[in-house]
Amino acid sequence: MTALADILKRQIAKTGPLTLAEYMSACLLHPDHGYYTNQNAFGADGDFTTAPEISQMFGELIGLSLAQTWMDQGSADAICLVELGPGRGTLMADILRATAQVPGFHQSKQVHLVEASSQMQAKQAKALLGHRPTWHSTVETLPEDQPIFVVANEFFDALPIRQFQRGAHGWREVMVGLDAGGALQFGLSDAAPLDALEHRLDDTEVGALVETRAQAATVVEALAQRMASNGGAALIIDYGGWRSDGDSFQAVRAHKPVGPLETPGAADLTAHVDFEPLATTARAQGCAASQITQQGVFLERLGITARARGLAKGLSGDQLESHIAAHRRLTHPDEMGSLFKVMGVYPDTESPPPGLDP
Ligand code: SAH
Repeated sequence: MTALADILKRQIAKTGPLTLAEYMSACLLHPDHGYYTNQNAFGADGDFTTAPEISQMFGELIGLSLAQTWMDQGSADAICLVELGPGRGTLMADILRATAQVPGFHQSKQVHLVEASSQMQAKQAKALLGHRPTWHSTVETLPEDQPIFVVANEFFDALPIRQFQRGAHGWREVMVGLDAGGALQFGLSDAAPLDALEHRLDDTEVGALVETRAQAATVVEALAQRMASNGGAALIIDYGGWRSDGDSFQAVRAHKPVGPLETPGAADLTAHVDFEPLATTARAQGCAASQITQQGVFLERLGITARARGLAKGLSGDQLESHIAAHRRLTHPDEMGSLFKVMGVYPDTESPPPGLDP
């Protein structure tokens, strides 16, 4: 039982069931009891490990891909280097270290971090000492007069989703309500007349469950508007696929799956990212979206195996073994290699970032 569980139960008793989006937002970002507000989420002693926390190679290759795209687009002398949801700041630190060798890139870039939690901002400040980042709590305040080169790793999966189940007479929304004993439980709304799901009538049947994530489209729209006007590119990396298909709402605590309603505010909540709506939004703003590419394929194309061999030369014993394991974890299809996908968004007059297909 958590403090947030009490607050949510009282709220539901008073004003009725919550959508999953309302529940997820409260659990992740509640100002006092939210998961990202309080928990030490990342790394070996945290609840989950992300690609940049597994190996420095991930951020190095992302950084070189973005710097190459900057050169391909003419090496503008004032750009925003942006990360959405930077966690502990490890990915941006690796990007900056790897791109220090790229002539002119560091002189041209200002670092911008989009981070909702002030606790996470404080961690990022420590990791990026000397780089003087500017923080934003949303993408809306990112500069509108410069090219933006953006990375978002495991950011979109933390944005709130809603779930809808197709019934014989239309869609019903999955809600968080209370059972007879007053505990949190999932239920279905009476009816959800939802135009937004009309395009899913052809490829779903009665009983199907579909997830939507309105905030993801809002974020991509803000990025794509800026890229269409001033250039740049975004690399969106996350687990999921082209189209939402079934229930992917999940909670993780101390590296183990737990029920999403068990410990509100104390477990990480995520859901798979469906890339199709992101691509559609980008195109509507005058940008192109690349094909989605498996993370393992993307990293191989950028040369992760050569980089791994180079790094291995200085290692032996346990360090060498864990380095080899990290390479496998990032790239192998049985690990993160095929579940995680990469999509590039860029002006439709340009080529996709290295490693991606148009
Ligand atoms: N990119 C990092 C961490 C991903 S975890 C890595 O690869 O290790 C998700 C990050 O997004 C956290 O820093 C979290 O605080 C932040 N976040 C979650 N929801 C957000 C929102 N709505 N707006 C801004 N930041 C958010």
